[in-house]
Amino acid sequence: MDTEQLKQKILDGDRRALARAITLVESGRADHRSMAQELLSELAKHKRQSLRIGLSGTPGVGKSTFIESFGMMLTALGLRVAVLAVDPSSARSGGSILGDKTRMERLSRERNAFIRPSPSQTHLGGVARRSREAVALCEAAGFDVVLVETVGVGQSETVVAEMSDLFLLLLAPAGGDELQGVKRGIMEMADLILVNKADGPLKPVATRTCADYAGALRLLRKRPQDPEGFPKALMVSAVEEHGLEQAWEEMQALTAWRRENGHWDRRRADQSCYWFDQEVRQALLARLHTASAQTAMAALSGQVAEGALTPAAAAEQMLQDHLKG
Ligand code: GDP
Repeated sequence: MDTEQLKQKILDGDRRALARAITLVESGRADHRSMAQELLSELAKHKRQSLRIGLSGTPGVGKSTFIESFGMMLTALGLRVAVLAVDPSSARSGGSILGDKTRMERLSRERNAFIRPSPSQTHLGGVARRSREAVALCEAAGFDVVLVETVGVGQSETVVAEMSDLFLLLLAPAGGDELQGVKRGIMEMADLILVNKADGPLKPVATRTCADYAGALRLLRKRPQDPEGFPKALMVSAVEEHGLEQAWEEMQALTAWRRENGHWDRRRADQSCYWFDQEVRQALLARLHTASAQTAMAALSGQVAEGALTPAAAAEQMLQDHLKG
C-alpha cells in the first residue's frame, strides 16, 4: 500500500490501516520515517480533532479498569474511542507496565474502540514523538476521544500532558500522608483528579481523600485556562462504574468553556511549539551522539580535566566542530 492509499484508508476510519500507520511511525528505519512524515503532513491538512485525554496514575490505581469502564461508557454513547499508552518503563527495561494484551478485554472487542500498547525499545524522547504521532493518526482516523495513558514515572506525565487537551490524575483512596506523595507539579497539571475505588469498604477513605485533594487544589494558583471551580476532585469507582458519567460531564463542560474562550486553540498551538522546541533539542543532542562526536568529547574532557581548557572553551569548540549538520 502506498502513502496515498494508506492516507485514504485512515481518513475512512479503517482500524487496520491505522494500526499499520502507527507501526510506520514507530519504525526507526529512515525510509519509514520519511513515509511517516509525508503521511502525517498530508493528514494534518484535514485538521480533524479528537478530544485528547491524558490519564496518569501509579501502577495498581486502576487505570486500565477505569479506561475500560469509561471507554465502554463512551462507545455506548456512540463515540469512537482510541487508547494509547506512553510507558517509560518499556524504554528502560524492555518490559512494559502498560502493554499487557489481556488488559481492557471488553473494550478491545468493541467495534468503535482502538487500543494500542506502548511502543518499546526506545528512549522517552522517542516514545514521546511516536505517541504524539500516533495521537495525530487517531485524530485523522476520526476518533472522537483519544485516551493517552501513562504511569507516574519520571517525565512521562509532562509528555502526556503536552499532548492532551485534558489531563486526568487517577488516585487511590489513602491516608493523609499520601497527599504529600503527589508532587505539586503533577497536581498543577491536572484538570480533574479522580479518586478511584470509591466503593465498598474503601468508600469512606475515598470520601476523605477526595475532600483532601479538593482542598489542596483550591490552594493552587488559579490558571487562566480554568473556569470557576476547576480543577476539580471527584470520586469514581471503575469497577462499579460509578461517577463516570459525572466525570464525563465535567470534562465536556471544561472543554466547552475552553473552546468558547480561546483556550483550546491556544493550548494546541502552545503544544505544537513545545514539541517543535523538543524536536530541535533532540536533533541537536543526536548530533553529539555520533561516534566521532563522542571521541572528540572524550578528548576535550581529558583537556578539561587537566586544566588545559576551561569547560566553556571546550564546549564552544565541541559545538563549533560538531553542530554543523
Ligand atoms: P493499573 O495498574 O493502574 O492499570 O490498575 P488496574 O486497572 O490493573 O487495577 C489494579 C487493581 O485495582 C485490580 O485488582 C483492580 O480490580 C482494582 N480496581 C480497579 N478499579 C477499582 C475500583 O474502582 N474499585 C475497586 N475496589 N478496585 C478497583
